[in-house]
Amino acid sequence: TAESNANSDGDAIKVFVRVRPLTQGTGLMTDGDHSLCLTVSTPHTVRLHCKPEPRTFTYDHVADMNTSQEEVFSSVAKNIVESCMNGYNGTIFAYGQTGSGKTFTMLGPSELDNFSDELRGVIPRSFEYLFFLINREVERSGGMKSFLCKCSFIEIYNEQIYDLLDSVSTSLFLREDIKRGVFVEGAVEKYAASAAEAYQVLSMGWRNRRVASTSMNRESSRSHAVFTMTLESKETAQEVVNIRTSQLNLVDLAGSERQRDTHAEGSRLKEASSINRSLMCLGQVIMALMDVSNGKNRHICYRDSKLTFLLRDSLGGNAKTYIIANVHPGSKCFGETLSTLQFAQRAK
Ligand code: ADP
Ligand code: MG
Repeated sequence: TAESNANSDGDAIKVFVRVRPLTQGTGLMTDGDHSLCLTVSTPHTVRLHCKPEPRTFTYDHVADMNTSQEEVFSSVAKNIVESCMNGYNGTIFAYGQTGSGKTFTMLGPSELDNFSDELRGVIPRSFEYLFFLINREVERSGGMKSFLCKCSFIEIYNEQIYDLLDSVSTSLFLREDIKRGVFVEGAVEKYAASAAEAYQVLSMGWRNRRVASTSMNRESSRSHAVFTMTLESKETAQEVVNIRTSQLNLVDLAGSERQRDTHAEGSRLKEASSINRSLMCLGQVIMALMDVSNGKNRHICYRDSKLTFLLRDSLGGNAKTYIIANVHPGSKCFGETLSTLQFAQRAK
């Protein structure tokens, strides 16, 4: 099958754990309690202060609270952007409880519209690097190579898909065909010819997401935001035209906190269970992909959630995936931090 020629070095899925600062920004309350529930012991391990014994977790990379946005970008995204230029699909997920720094990591500080800011996140930096590589390639090829970049930006909420670049109130459907693979039918695709144009698309979608969270009551911490860049490269060599398409997906996942509000009813309850289900499906797909890349023969249940089905062609196979697991180091967050570290470990 398509899945079984996976990066057989077991490198198909990598995990980067990022510990946010204890008190910077808003987000989770520490209630004045400044004790920590974890220690970053090496660049690959984190020690969680469990009782009676601490537990050590190992990942491809563990970044402590002093890690800069540039460092996160270089460790996680650079490589994926490069392989996207070489025709491979890639996906970067930000996973973690609400307030753990997912949006900060992917986009930057919440009200950021200034993409020259030092604190801009993985997404704007990926645009910059991608267009840097594109321009370099075009120049080197003396005009024999050209590229076309299309952006789409959707939100998945309650297992419904909404277009953040268009009408945010009607839900869209997933379709599949031989040429395009899985795609959102009718989703707007905007061309971007530079990083600046890509930022514009990103900001527009982000503003729409904020609007939908108030006017449509789609709280953004409970939805997945998926920014997709489709790159088409065209190369002319000895009168033969070679066209290659690849996709880069940048995903800010819904908060992973257990929805423990036992009084939730109706739409809130439905919402809570669909978030849990969709993150659980993601975990299962990732585990199955790890097994496949370790040579086991397994069926992968992409169709069990909108998110995994949409990303089917960018997970597994020759695609590169990076999960950034964001954790809060405060003692008050011990439970959710443990659960994130466990999720991330399953992906290892
Ligand atoms: P999430 O998207 O996971 O709910 P946010 O990214 O919104 O979390 O982060 C919550 C708050 O903490 C924001 O105000 C954000 O700017 C701040 N924050 C998160 N991570 C960092 C970091 N590494 N450095 C500085 N501030 C951060
Ligand atoms: Mg967020």
